[in-house]
Amino acid sequence: MADFDVVVIGAGPGGYVAAIRSAQLGLSTACIDEWKNAQGKPSLGGTCLNVGCIPSKALLESSENFERVTHDFSAHGITASGVQFDLAKMLARKDKIVSDFTSGIVQLFKKNKVTPLYGHAQFLGREGDSWRIGVAGGEEVKAKQVIIATGSTPRVLPQAPFDGIRIVDNSGALAFTEIPKRLVIIGAGVIGLELGSVWRRLGAEVTLLEALPTFIPAADEQVAKEALRAFTRQGLKIHLGVQIDGVTQSDAGVQISWHDAQGIAQELVADKLIVAVGRVANTQGLGAETVGLKLDGAGRVEVDEHCRTNLPNIYAVGDVVRGPMLAHKASEEGVMVAELIAGQAGHCDLNLVPGIMYTAPEIAWVGKTEQQLKSSGVDYSSGQFPFMANGRARALGEASGFVKILADTKTDRILGVHIIGPMASELIQQAVLALAFSSSSEDLARIIHAHPSLSEAVHEAALAVDKRAIHI
Ligand code: FAD
Ligand code: NAD
Repeated sequence: MADFDVVVIGAGPGGYVAAIRSAQLGLSTACIDEWKNAQGKPSLGGTCLNVGCIPSKALLESSENFERVTHDFSAHGITASGVQFDLAKMLARKDKIVSDFTSGIVQLFKKNKVTPLYGHAQFLGREGDSWRIGVAGGEEVKAKQVIIATGSTPRVLPQAPFDGIRIVDNSGALAFTEIPKRLVIIGAGVIGLELGSVWRRLGAEVTLLEALPTFIPAADEQVAKEALRAFTRQGLKIHLGVQIDGVTQSDAGVQISWHDAQGIAQELVADKLIVAVGRVANTQGLGAETVGLKLDGAGRVEVDEHCRTNLPNIYAVGDVVRGPMLAHKASEEGVMVAELIAGQAGHCDLNLVPGIMYTAPEIAWVGKTEQQLKSSGVDYSSGQFPFMANGRARALGEASGFVKILADTKTDRILGVHIIGPMASELIQQAVLALAFSSSSEDLARIIHAHPSLSEAVHEAALAVDKRAIHI
């Protein structure tokens, strides 16, 4: 039976990164993954590479290019007639990006001497100092240390179970072969808004039904308000505070009965229904009960701040544990755990995980929102700068939105940064850096920012905290 220093279960961004880092640190490492692509072939990379971050961003980019040509280029004096798109080609481009990256992980494993094992893994028990792990197909391996990185799967709404044809999850929603004329999405979260944007730009009438009365509650209220205005203007129909009563299917399509926020019964008929109401941790069939691995009330593996489980030498990272379900958080936890196993001092600060929505405008944030600071009674100062007054944003023709910086009034330490606007996904990283180094808004204000650049909006927002912005 093969015996490894480290066995990682799951090859998503949590698992494959943990495996590579473990191997880099000289530990003999195997990574077991059961994912199979549409052709039934093993495909490393987990949700993120196969049906998440990467394919969604590929389609967001393609659809946004189409929107730019058909709607935005005329402002630049560029007109094009008869512009069309080829959906099959768009999907093939997305699939090629995915397969390039998933096969890239195979190469990275080779380069770093990580042994990939394909199949479902489950704990079988303990033998001496090692854990015994079974891999579907009969193989068994031993591991001195185990990293669980089994990720998550879409939450099923009992009223609308997935059929993979008309009622779909994120996988189905990334692979429509025709533009649905009427598309309904249950859940106006990240997936609903990103994929809703994709299909709207390509011609679908998109309606989002969201249970919460608040739009994007995790974002700063002012950002969420601006986003709701922008998305509504683009044509997304967003209903908040709804209750889904029932979903049935007929020749006419998928009928969704729901109550609106005023308690009035409503009905919608859709060609496709995407259900995107969050995700649940993948702990089924892992053998958690066999070895006594403790799960929390939400079915996630319970871990401490260093991702240690209740069992010796078993760690868990990524979507399968508490914290935001984000690829970069999963990877960072994977690195931390590999370094701890190797006797180093790994750490991962969950307060510094940036959140990003790749809509147009993009939305990105890190740290505390204004409503969080208010409710915890923190004395803060706010500085804001609109992209309308930023030369680069105007030149790009993408001047909606703003940067907002929240800093402690007494110490000036930056507590939160919120951006809605062009390239917010890239701009937020300087804010993450600032927070990681406990910077004050004055630190940012005194750093030279290149001109003309979008990052000058961050600079001006920092100046605005001290009421000395130059360009507003
Ligand atoms: P996963 O990526 O889910 O990987 C887990 C792997 O473990 C899978 O391959 C699974 O098959 C395997 N596995 C599970 N159980 C077993 C077992 N018992 N034996 C063997 N293998 C097993 N995050 C971002 O940060 N940015 C984004 O832009 C973004 N976009 C997204 C878009 C969509 C549509 C979706 C659905 C998600 C998106 N996410 C994004 C979230 C991101 O994909 C996840 O947070 C991330 O993939 C979690 O990584 P992970 O390694 O914990 O788990
Ligand atoms: P989410 O938590 O972002 O949104 C789910 C939404 O569904 C919530 O607003 C919730 O209130 C709503 N909801 C729940 N039950 C409902 C019901 N019965 N009826 C109507 N609405 C209901 O989850 P998601 O959009 O499914 O995405 C899953 C995960 O994937 C997220 O945790 C996110 O972090 C990750 N993701 C990240 C990105 C990114 O980083 N850009 C993109 C896509 C997905």
